[in-house]
Amino acid sequence: MKMMEISIDKTYCKGCGICIKACPKCVFAMSEERQSFGSLIPYPAQKEKCIGCKLCEMLCPDGCITVE
Ligand code: SF4
Ligand code: SF4
Repeated sequence: MKMMEISIDKTYCKGCGICIKACPKCVFAMSEERQSFGSLIPYPAQKEKCIGCKLCEMLCPDGCITVE
């Protein structure tokens, strides 16, 4: 199975955590990195588990996630 590339636009991510809760494979975890407004931002901690369903991409309210 192809390894998916998951990117998060750190400029616009507000750290709401919806992607963490939505992912059926628990790919995301919160990092210790903060964006410019001070919120912690998630990262694809287990991207090898990604099945490419794109739920995260569809549900991110700010359109920050790209899965390809
Ligand atoms: S759903 Fe979008 S805005 Fe919310 S934490 Fe995830 S990437 Fe950031
Ligand atoms: S594409 Fe699906 S499996 Fe992959 S990170 Fe997004 S929600 Fe999780």
